[in-house]
Amino acid sequence: MTNSPEAVSQRPEQMAAPALALRSIRKSYGDHVAVNDVSLELASGEVLAIIGPSGSGKSSLLRCINLLERPESGVLEVFGKPIPLDRDVPAKDLALLRRNVGMVFQSFNLFPHLTVLRNITLPQERVLKRNPEKAAQRARELLERVGLADKGDSYPGKLSGGQQQRVAIARALAMDPQILLFDEPTSALDPELGLEVLAVMRGLAEAGTTMAVVTHEIHFAAEVADRMIVMADGRIIEQGPPETVLDSPTSARTQRFLRAVRGR
Ligand code: ADP
Ligand code: MG
Repeated sequence: MTNSPEAVSQRPEQMAAPALALRSIRKSYGDHVAVNDVSLELASGEVLAIIGPSGSGKSSLLRCINLLERPESGVLEVFGKPIPLDRDVPAKDLALLRRNVGMVFQSFNLFPHLTVLRNITLPQERVLKRNPEKAAQRARELLERVGLADKGDSYPGKLSGGQQQRVAIARALAMDPQILLFDEPTSALDPELGLEVLAVMRGLAEAGTTMAVVTHEIHFAAEVADRMIVMADGRIIEQGPPETVLDSPTSARTQRFLRAVRGR
């Protein structure tokens, strides 16, 4: 049995394990606790929407999942493989995590000096050691999938925000992640450009992609997500099927937040 990251999700005894589990994750900045003892599971193929007011710890939580931030305590489990966070994370485990978990940011984070195609091929060559031809082929397939087949030779600065975000999604998909995290992928976009991106995300969800999406797009979340969690002050204060959370929230904090989101 090999320990390579690619092999992990294929072990039969681990197929039943959640794709991702967070056990009592805690992250502070100085004495401010941004993520306070958060536990949750994401099943394979599940789409989780994460909503909540600004500053409630949503980005910090996502960043803890792929260890862009180091939580001070808790355990992450990727397809049943536990990664304890109260000690140094072995390089092998970090590779496992990064290999399996892709992330799409609010601000796209494309390389401005590289063409669209190169933005998507470079990480495949560097991280996956894919040969340039295969990487280019995969990049073209994915550009087609996000509706940008003709933009491979363009530079990001020549594209609209919606197009740039779709390139960023293609780049994330090119790494063949098992789990995709989205941090407010449409909040920097004009509404119409946001719709292009939401359409691509809806397609991914329908294709069975395992996703956690931080978003203020309540309608999108209600339609696409299997489950919704609401965060406030670093904690999950409410969770359930989107229609239950949105139509009959139990906490006053959630009710107040939903009124604010709907009132915009
Ligand atoms: P959200 O994404 O829900 O708006 P964040 O996770 O960005 O919330 O932030 C949660 C809290 O942690 C906020 O109070 C924020 O100011 C604080 N915070 C986030 N990142 C940092 C950081 N790098 N240094 C210090 N404080 C931070
Ligand atoms: Mg945020």
